[in-house]
Amino acid sequence: MPVARVPGVPFGPWSGLAASAWHDWRWQLRNRLTTADQFARLLPVSDETRAWMSAGGAFEVGVTPYFASLFNDAALRDGEPLRCPLIRQVLPDPREANVAPFERADPLGEDPARTVPGIVHKYPDRVLLLVTDTCAAYCRYCTRARWVASSQASLDSAELDAAIDYIATHRGIVDVLISGGDPLLWSTARLDALLDRLAAISHLRWIRIGTRVPVFLPMRIDAELVRALRPRRIPVFVNVHINHYSELAAPTLTGLCLLADGGISLGGQTVLLRGVNDDAAVLRDTFYAMLSARVRPYYLFHCDPVRGTEHLRTSVDDALALVRQLVGFCSGMAVPKYCIDLEGGGKVPLWPDYVERADGDALLVRGYRGDRFAYDNRPRGGDGA
Ligand code: SF4
Repeated sequence: MPVARVPGVPFGPWSGLAASAWHDWRWQLRNRLTTADQFARLLPVSDETRAWMSAGGAFEVGVTPYFASLFNDAALRDGEPLRCPLIRQVLPDPREANVAPFERADPLGEDPARTVPGIVHKYPDRVLLLVTDTCAAYCRYCTRARWVASSQASLDSAELDAAIDYIATHRGIVDVLISGGDPLLWSTARLDALLDRLAAISHLRWIRIGTRVPVFLPMRIDAELVRALRPRRIPVFVNVHINHYSELAAPTLTGLCLLADGGISLGGQTVLLRGVNDDAAVLRDTFYAMLSARVRPYYLFHCDPVRGTEHLRTSVDDALALVRQLVGFCSGMAVPKYCIDLEGGGKVPLWPDYVERADGDALLVRGYRGDRFAYDNRPRGGDGA
């Protein structure tokens, strides 16, 4: 029997819980849903899903009670939990056992680019600094499923020293993206100290943090954390992974507001997922909701070919058709760059092709509504030639 809920409010097994516990981020982590029996107290769990979870599944399972409070009641009433765009992202699915030939454990080719523990150096002027393998909840399509929640714990202090030393001695690096796992699960003091050390490296020009904590665990965001994330000599950008507008419930909006009011620039990263957000209206509403929360949509990522995720992936053609339904119809600020990520080749932005024909100095271009226009393509020098 589905459990009635109000988004962001204790429900079902936690109905009588003190608000102080529910709003304690450590309580949320300690009480994550990890087993089929725990899920079955909230939603119908099929025998196949139970068997898949009992057999160990493909990857770690963990969902905060808070995130479960956002699950869609209608899908649960209908007995089809995977129709809920949020459940679909976090509940193990027996289809994860089907591994397509092109799917990889390391779909981006990050492991060969790990120069020292914690550092992935794939691009000339920036590095990824992976500080922890722990997340507040685990997404079934995670690009680093091979690594997050594995037995590899957070970087120890000697490894962290070596990683920072690597950044300090490679003067071409201007940008560090701190990720994981989720770096906002580090203690505030530890994060503050890390940001201080990175900001002291003179050739760094900015720091980015990738996180899904505002969605899975918004109670983690408090004044102390905001202070730790403050801009130093260089700016600190926080990129929040948001896939669906229903993830932006009141507690998340409050957390994002705290961050934005604290002077932190917020960007949004969205993964295109079949049955979650592969619909132009859903994408538009999600990007508009993000902008209203002062999160600028930055990337729309194609779902990487992680092992066992084909049921969650669209085709690139379908993705481009969705982007075409957004461009021009939505504010340009609400249309992120759509990218695929190549194994060892980095991110590549793809965009619908609006040029129908190039004919000498004339281009034939389609407008966003589909009508055709001639466009003068003659070079124009500043001298009027
Ligand atoms: S929060 Fe990010 S790193 Fe963690 S499981 Fe989800 S996609 Fe992976």
